[in-house]
Amino acid sequence: MNVLVVDDSATMRMIVVKSLRQAGYDTATVLEAASAREALQAIAAGGVHLVLSDVNMPEISGIELVKVIKAKFPTLPIIMITTESSPEMKAKMTAAGANGIVTKPFPPEQLRRLIDSLLPKTS
Ligand SMILES: [Mg+2]
Repeated sequence: MNVLVVDDSATMRMIVVKSLRQAGYDTATVLEAASAREALQAIAAGGVHLVLSDVNMPEISGIELVKVIKAKFPTLPIIMITTESSPEMKAKMTAAGANGIVTKPFPPEQLRRLIDSLLPKTS
């Protein structure tokens, strides 16, 4: 499984990757993108099975990213990992096409449950 982790913070990407490993996805191949632009390039290259994306990013926000991804790749699951926990922001993410939302900080178990509900576990 190839997982794309999108966050403008390198530290946050590291935390998300660590959580993914702790959640049991220790054999997943992780790709990282520091911006929505990089994320779209990685997805266009093919082979991405799941996107874990930040919301607050400069230039193109996570919300815009989800809209673009869903327009081109409607079946690609996207989980938002964010500090934005207000019902309004969550509604925006869902309306944009996000398949799940995890609010930081989160236990790896929560991420695992969400990923398992979206993908068949292959390893
Ligand atoms: Mg950010």
